Amino acid sequence: MEVKVIAGHKLTPGKTLKDHIHVEGTELHVPHVLLCGQHRGPTVLISAGIHNAEYVGIQAAIELSNELDVGDLHGNVIILPLANRSGFENRTMSMVYEDGKNLNRVFPGNWEGSEADRLAAMLFEVFIQNVDAYIDLHSGDGYETLIPYAYYLGDTPAEEQARKMIDCINTKYYVRSRCRTGGAYNLASVHGIPSVLIERGQLSLFSRDEIEADKADVKNILRCLGVLPGKPISYSKTQLFEYSDDAPCTGCWYPEKQPGDYFIQGEKLGEIRDYFGNVLYTEYAPQNGILLHQCASLNIIEKGPMVTYGVPTDDNI
Ligand SMILES: [Zn+2]
Repeated sequence: MEVKVIAGHKLTPGKTLKDHIHVEGTELHVPHVLLCGQHRGPTVLISAGIHNAEYVGIQAAIELSNELDVGDLHGNVIILPLANRSGFENRTMSMVYEDGKNLNRVFPGNWEGSEADRLAAMLFEVFIQNVDAYIDLHSGDGYETLIPYAYYLGDTPAEEQARKMIDCINTKYYVRSRCRTGGAYNLASVHGIPSVLIERGQLSLFSRDEIEADKADVKNILRCLGVLPGKPISYSKTQLFEYSDDAPCTGCWYPEKQPGDYFIQGEKLGEIRDYFGNVLYTEYAPQNGILLHQCASLNIIEKGPMVTYGVPTDDNI
């Protein structure tokens, strides 16, 4: 049997390996844990910290890397607990510290580019393209509030398997995404790797309940993939299409709704004022929807995130 090699390490049954991988042409090093199951089975990648200020997933991944027992695993679990380590150590709001780029907008990356481009290229070539399934853990950014939900990419070869993974996630909503570029799970999906992204947590906070919920979702998906023993639990939820409105100008932001709130077309979602209190812009709901996440800081930045909402695909709210 051919031995699988990931990041230069042979996957030896029953062994756990913890290491950093250097990103060529940069000073970046990415921590990774290879959990090589005692029994044969698929190889699953779990990443967190692609956005480094999204702490729930990072802590869940660290805990999973210590809790999953290779003796129980049918297959391999590869964990990247902190993909954007330099952003974390310099406390950026989820940008790569060296070049200010959003790592989850530059996949598949570029070996001729700057740090984020090279990091994305390494993550894809070394990890993502060598696995059979992928789970990416995110939260609202340090300035964002959010309700938990999940994504998968529609119209891909692995859509059916990704849908089964989505069923294992304990959230009320999921988004059938149409975005095929830029993101890690999007790229993996286009390459036929069933992939999901879980959003849970907000404002750079992390609670025990949220961490446990992330871990429970990952373990439930691992059951569904046959990597962990036991029958997965299926959670029914509402499918949404996602829409985002970015801020048209910089200023002070005053949201009117909370994530999870329903709204109807034409309802006021918030306004941007200048530093004298004059209204610069009012955001009205372009259609009926459910607020998924939004900017929650007083400052808002032109062309930066403002509101992201979902619309049920059957338009029945
Ligand atoms: Zn994120």
